Amino acid sequence: MVHKNPAHPYQACGEISSPTRPYVGFATIVYALLLPVAPQSNQHRLSNCFFNKYNAGTALAPVTLTEQNMITMQVLKDKIIIDDTTLRDGEQSAGVAFSREEKLAIAIHLDALGVPELEVGIPAMGREEQETIQAIADLDLDARLIAWCRMADYDLQQCRYLNIDMVDLSIPVSDQQIRHKLGHSRQWVLSEIKRQVPLAQDMGLEVCVGGEDASRADPDFLAEVVEIAQRAGARRFRFADTVGIMEPFSVYERIQYLRSMVDLELEMHAHDDFGMATANTLAAVRAGASHVNTTVHGLGERAGNAPLEEVVMSLKHLYHVNTGIELQNFSALSKQVADASGRPVGWQKSLAGDGAFTHEAGIHVDGLLKDPRNYQGVDPSELGRQHSLVLGKHSGTRSLMHAYKHLGMDLNRQQASRILDRLRKFTTRFKRSPEDGELRRFYEELTG
Ligand SMILES: [Zn+2]
Repeated sequence: MVHKNPAHPYQACGEISSPTRPYVGFATIVYALLLPVAPQSNQHRLSNCFFNKYNAGTALAPVTLTEQNMITMQVLKDKIIIDDTTLRDGEQSAGVAFSREEKLAIAIHLDALGVPELEVGIPAMGREEQETIQAIADLDLDARLIAWCRMADYDLQQCRYLNIDMVDLSIPVSDQQIRHKLGHSRQWVLSEIKRQVPLAQDMGLEVCVGGEDASRADPDFLAEVVEIAQRAGARRFRFADTVGIMEPFSVYERIQYLRSMVDLELEMHAHDDFGMATANTLAAVRAGASHVNTTVHGLGERAGNAPLEEVVMSLKHLYHVNTGIELQNFSALSKQVADASGRPVGWQKSLAGDGAFTHEAGIHVDGLLKDPRNYQGVDPSELGRQHSLVLGKHSGTRSLMHAYKHLGMDLNRQQASRILDRLRKFTTRFKRSPEDGELRRFYEELTG
């Protein structure tokens, strides 16, 4: 049973066990906690404000960071721009193929959440992809639209009549890929950047030079690439950890080095092969990246990209950095992407999975019932969600009594204790919580 009535009057005062609360039967005994709004913490332990050296005169919000964090902090921009690539890298996930209608719907939803930039597709794939990109452009969304291209004449020409704002011209920058994929030299890469960036600009497009496999590139060569890109007129460089082999400390060093060399926008493109896409994205932000790539749920090549929901919430709560994105309606987008991609969200997926705000353990449930903040790291209402309690092997008598109260039955402690034994045997055998009817049967068996 789940209470899905966020406007319930008891929400305001934090009452979580009102007998008048509407009861909704459900496959498992799940009952939502209607939580009081936690007071905003104001723990500015540092008086320092960081200022954006790349955008003179723009003040940065004070950050809530520990002393240690401050020591390693380079610069936090006041606003990080999220360039979501669910519709490009997300769709590159093996076996995923969005229809035009699905792409349009996802684009509308991302835009409605306030995602400022969308990478919407690969024009070189052909007429159908181009028409879909144009259809997204015709929506006249607030989000800036970006197309992904290999840095090649043919690919760039396919962008010519699309009403997009920017093109990501991707070119390998590691010796591995330059030599063994392209069969070219570093010098060829530099000359192509010098040649292709102005061509794209002549087509009225802003340019991001995408450094494919940047994580395996020689750092000094990469610095040269970025300087050449800036001089050629690119406004952005994308640092792609294409094969997902970085960890946050090395990301920090690499981005900080580039940041010290150039003024153009730096964008982090992380992959999750070692489960560090979000951590690497945050490290890039700390080192001075101005833009980051995300996808809904982290959908993307192999292990995927940095999840939109994780990056937005982490930047907001861990770094106090604004992305302008509100996630109250994220659940609808989450379902939409899961359905369209055929990739269901894992039960324990952070922030998005069914289990992300679900509690069973007696100690935790007891603590939550006393004060939700006892076990709340993230307020689920920020994602349009609520805490849920389920009955299971680790439930305590208080949870059980609370659940039965919603069934209209008042258990005393002795009854609850005996039913708890029954509950533990049931969940161990059936690997699920009992349904309402089964709970009633436990009670009837007890009372005879
Ligand atoms: Zn990628």
